[in-house]
Amino acid sequence: MTQNLSFEDECAGGPGFGTALIIGEHGQDCSAFGKEVGANGYEVLVADGLDAGLALVDTNKPSVVLLSISFPLDEAQCAVDIRKIREAAGTGHPSIIAFAAGRGGGNEYVHALSIGADDFISTPVDGTELVAKLRTHSKLHDFYRELQEDKKNLETLLAITAAMSATLDASEVLSIIVSKVADVTGAVRCSIVLAGDKDEGYVLASHEDRSIRELKIDLSKYPEIRRAIETKRTIAIADIVNDPIMSAVRDKVSGLKEMSALIVPIVFNDVSLGTLFLRVRRRERGFSRKEMDFCGIVANSAFHAMRNARMFARLMQEKDTLQEIVTRDQLTSLFNHNFFYTRLEEEFDRAVRYDMPLSVIMIDIDDFKEVNDRHGHLAGDAVLKDLSAMIKKGVRKTDIVARYGGEEFAVILPHTGLNGALEEGERLREIIESHAYAGFIEERITISVGVASYPQKAAMNSAELVNSADNALYKAKWSGKNCVRATD
Ligand code: GH3
Ligand code: MG
Ligand code: MG
Repeated sequence: MTQNLSFEDECAGGPGFGTALIIGEHGQDCSAFGKEVGANGYEVLVADGLDAGLALVDTNKPSVVLLSISFPLDEAQCAVDIRKIREAAGTGHPSIIAFAAGRGGGNEYVHALSIGADDFISTPVDGTELVAKLRTHSKLHDFYRELQEDKKNLETLLAITAAMSATLDASEVLSIIVSKVADVTGAVRCSIVLAGDKDEGYVLASHEDRSIRELKIDLSKYPEIRRAIETKRTIAIADIVNDPIMSAVRDKVSGLKEMSALIVPIVFNDVSLGTLFLRVRRRERGFSRKEMDFCGIVANSAFHAMRNARMFARLMQEKDTLQEIVTRDQLTSLFNHNFFYTRLEEEFDRAVRYDMPLSVIMIDIDDFKEVNDRHGHLAGDAVLKDLSAMIKKGVRKTDIVARYGGEEFAVILPHTGLNGALEEGERLREIIESHAYAGFIEERITISVGVASYPQKAAMNSAELVNSADNALYKAKWSGKNCVRATD
């Protein structure tokens, strides 16, 4: 049996200290003691016996538990009872104060500590002593909770920092940030929203749906986010449904009863880039200064993640551009001679190591000098470009096409033996011969093709394989051009 005592009229009207649970022995009348405790600003619950007490500890998370003990003391049993209370309280960590009627010989306090209690009070209680003790324990309890909160916040910040140094993928970092913040604050919704043009916003990460990466939202439906972006100040809303900021969308938020919201702007160089946005189910309490400060620090990390990712993306882009310049031929955009040799060496090593075939095709345009002579160098350039694109289109995705020299091209064919390479060479020859080049309606442009394959040709290295393909190309020229030849 439990009683829920209300002592509002006797209350001093000061700030509440939370819930005090009095666990009496079976049948013990604790109402007088309960009134005294209630008069000190606690909501008081009284449990009849330990089992009822443990159930209330679990459900009501009291800040103080007052446990009745009697002398002579069964120390072992009391120690077990107190351990059970602490277990039921978990991280709630209430102060446990033992109380007993009268005096037990003068050293009750020592007995109480030895069974694991935090303090002792004798009843009937001395009003001043009770006030002093309850205040001290409330402070201790608050202090403990703050420490726990700080610890959790620090752990979260550490986890975010670790995530940021482990990945440069901004989406992943933001996704970790929102899920950690939701964990710490108990938010039912936690997202990072990027401010776009006018009323556009983009949800970059949301803890309820980790797949969200750039969900477009209409910020006119989120006046609280707009306010944080406009004012560059944190907006804390204790009661979403009734707060004046939400008046324009009141009908849309009517389902959010007993919910609070916190919106922290992410600001750089006096510009709001977006917000960290939280909804929490606890209208009564709203947000503490500590929570707001914590979210401010997190919003700052979110900004750094966004900035680093942007910088990284730019660096990668620059690196790609440099790579393009270093490895590509300017006129045809095919790989250049250097890149061809680098890749060929790699492919040759791989072919030897895994005992796989590898082929090289060398291509030379027939009588290209005449094309230049008749139509000019610029027209010749246009043909080179056009023809390069045709070769690129004609090979397989895995083949590597390079401009080997002036009007010569080379193709690396990984995992391809002689027959496959000859077929591909013939296919290219036909494509080039049948293609109508701009401004060359009457003329045909043809190519000669030389093919060499490892291991058919006992090449010792990549250079020997290229030499072989070159020799085959000469054979094709000697055979009258516009044909495909392999080395013997
Ligand atoms: P063959 O059938 O024996 O290969 O005859 P060819 O005329 O193609 O051979 P040759 O090696 O005598 O001449 C190659 C010509 O390719 C010479 C050069 O003017 C031209 N050439 C090389 N690079 C370029 C280029 O970048 N642009 C243009 N327009 N022509 C080039
Ligand atoms: Mg040539
Ligand atoms: Mg030529």
